[in-house]
Amino acid sequence: MSYVILQPTADPYARRNYQLTVESTVSLSVIQPHVTESTLNELTLSAEGGGVRVWGVRSVHITPYTRIRRGDVVLFARDKRFFSEADIIQKTESQTLATKLWGDPTGSSDTWPLIYFLTSPVKKDIAYPTFKEIVGYTNVNGNPAQGFTVLDQTRSQRYHEYEYEAAYQAIDSQEPLDTVTKAMARREQSALRRQLIGDKSEVECGICGRTLPVHLLVAAHIKKRSACTPDEKRNIPFIAMPICNLGCDPLYELGYVTVVNGIVQVAETSSVSLQNILRDLSGKRCKYWVEERRPYFDWHHQWATS
Ligand SMILES: [Zn+2]
Repeated sequence: MSYVILQPTADPYARRNYQLTVESTVSLSVIQPHVTESTLNELTLSAEGGGVRVWGVRSVHITPYTRIRRGDVVLFARDKRFFSEADIIQKTESQTLATKLWGDPTGSSDTWPLIYFLTSPVKKDIAYPTFKEIVGYTNVNGNPAQGFTVLDQTRSQRYHEYEYEAAYQAIDSQEPLDTVTKAMARREQSALRRQLIGDKSEVECGICGRTLPVHLLVAAHIKKRSACTPDEKRNIPFIAMPICNLGCDPLYELGYVTVVNGIVQVAETSSVSLQNILRDLSGKRCKYWVEERRPYFDWHHQWATS
């Protein structure tokens, strides 16, 4: 279960820090002297272009800060709306790293030592009253993000469900018009991944069985997305499984590989190179094969072999 964290960024320092270390990446070589080896390993698995995004809060927020974990979602707030979202990779308490990144412009020597590391932020635009309605506040007036806040489990889950439904419904409404944008597909993908992959840093590919960093895998629909009913799309996590980007995703998507009773089966092809690839995959055991997924795997096999 991934929690939703509300992070205000309205004051001038927060605006500046956001620009410095959330809009841009911080190199792992800058972070390395200030974190443990295991934290650094986690960061290495999630880094893009050699860096990650970083945020820090004051020590007064230690209680909610102790609750946050890898896989939680941060919503950044200002001007009465949530304007961006990112996933937590790791956290570390370090005044020295904080000072290195943001200095001590307030002269308080408590400038944001409770640090968390993030994936790159995705744009959002959710006004406070809409957000409060989504997560189930009875009073939708007022600011839900007065300070650094961790939503409880029920509210966090409501947000995830809303995000995924809004994402796939947006695609469904545009699909007949052929105007589904990359951004819409990305939004659905990230909401689905969050529910499927959660807080893991590495997961196994459902086809080749290799364990890989999560950003090299997609949350793939087992039954073709366009053939799924709304109820099937909502059937999380069973409608999807992690498949790697290193070849398995297009092979599954195009029907070169299918899964029958939990075992990978492969198609015939006249391409020698492809045949070699498929031969290596044939007979692998799919970790994600469970009874609840059987109808989706069977649909895909039927589709691919008919
Ligand atoms: Zn794979």
